[in-house]
Formats: sequence, structure tokens, C-alpha cells
Amino acid sequence: MMSKGILIVVSAPSGCGKGTILAEILKSDEFYYSVSATTRQPREGETDGVNYHFLQKDQFENLIENDGMLEYAQYCGNYYGTPRDKVFQKLDEGKNVILEIEVQGAMQIKKKCPDAVFIFIAPPSVQELKRRLKKRGTESAEIINQRVSEAAHEISFAHEYDYIIVNGELDKAVEDFKTVIHSQKLRSESQNKFIDEVLNNA
Ligand code: 5GP
Repeated sequence: MMSKGILIVVSAPSGCGKGTILAEILKSDEFYYSVSATTRQPREGETDGVNYHFLQKDQFENLIENDGMLEYAQYCGNYYGTPRDKVFQKLDEGKNVILEIEVQGAMQIKKKCPDAVFIFIAPPSVQELKRRLKKRGTESAEIINQRVSEAAHEISFAHEYDYIIVNGELDKAVEDFKTVIHSQKLRSESQNKFIDEVLNNA
């Protein structure tokens, strides 16, 4: 029996280690990572079609007009969005589909797909977030401060999510993530098909 997969929406301020947690989760082929589209320039090491589908602004706007985006948002002057096609195809195949998106997009998904599970990954503290951003050493003090205040704004939306995972220790955070998915599978509405089958064979 093929059960439909779970749609998982994950948001986190930058510097929370979201990428590291997801890399661990995606080692299992139960999960499918939805590759977003964006109009921002690729960073060094990023590959088109793997990290993002890098599009021109008119291509992106064309997709919006043709209802090709499940959600989209503007973030730091660029468009980011989830192409609609693969998401439902993969869910139908029974994969758990991960959307790694910012808060505005997550709120759109909440309206369109109420069955999705919403996970917010938070840093253990703002001080720790600052320390991690500094340690990365890629940004100036001014940019770090800007990212920290952006992070605080994003954290203020955390109560809109079903689960908050604090990324203090990687192993613990990955375990928490798996626990959330496991609980979601056990929810009664996820098991309607199973219950129907039991009753049909009674
Ligand atoms: P970055 O430019 O650092 O890769 O991403 C910036 C922000 O855009 C991150 O918070 C990331 O989660 C978010 N983002 C990435 N893809 C999407 C998407 O498809 N939709 C939305 N709404 N946000 C996205």
C-alpha cells in the first residue's frame, strides 16, 4: 500500500544550522528536497537545478502568472518560490517532501495545505547565533548585525509553526526532527486509509 507522503515546511533564520540538519535527514530516501526557484545570483559552489533553479526575473514572473508557484516571496530584493509540479508528484509517490522556505512563504502554504507540518528551527540564543555568524567569517560586522536583527524578526513568527526545534546540538536536533515526522505519521488523519482497510476486512 502506497501512503501519501508528508509535506514538511522548514524555516530558520540564517546561521541556525538548518542546512546541516537537513543534510542528515536527506540521507534517507524517504525524503525529497524541493528545489526552489530564485532570481538571486548563484553563490560560489552552487549548481543550477541542485541548490536552486536560477531564473531571470521575467521567467519567474511568468511562472507566477501561470500558477506555476505553490508559494513565493520577495526576500532581500529577490524572488524565491516553490515550483508546484514536483511537490504533488512526489507526495503522491509517498515521499515526505521538504520545503525549506522563509516565513512569508510558509504562511502561504499554511493556508493552501493545512495538512502540512510546520517546523521552525531556532538557535539556542541570539548570542549563540551571533557567535556562529562571526565564526563563519564570511560577513562584515554590519551584515552580521543586520542578519541578527532579521533573525529576531523571523523568530517572532515561530509561534505560527507546529514544532520548534532548538539547534543546540546537531544530533539532538536531528533526532527531534525525526521524532516530529514519526509523530506526524501516527496522527489519526494520516491513518484513515489503514483504518478503512481494517474495517473493510472485518
Ligand atoms: P538564501 O539566499 O540564503 O539561499 O535564502 C534566503 C531565504 O530564502 C532563506 O530563508 C530560505 O529559506 C528562503 N527560501 C529559499 N527558497 C525559498 C522558496 O522557495 N520560497 C520562499 N518563500 N523562501 C525560500
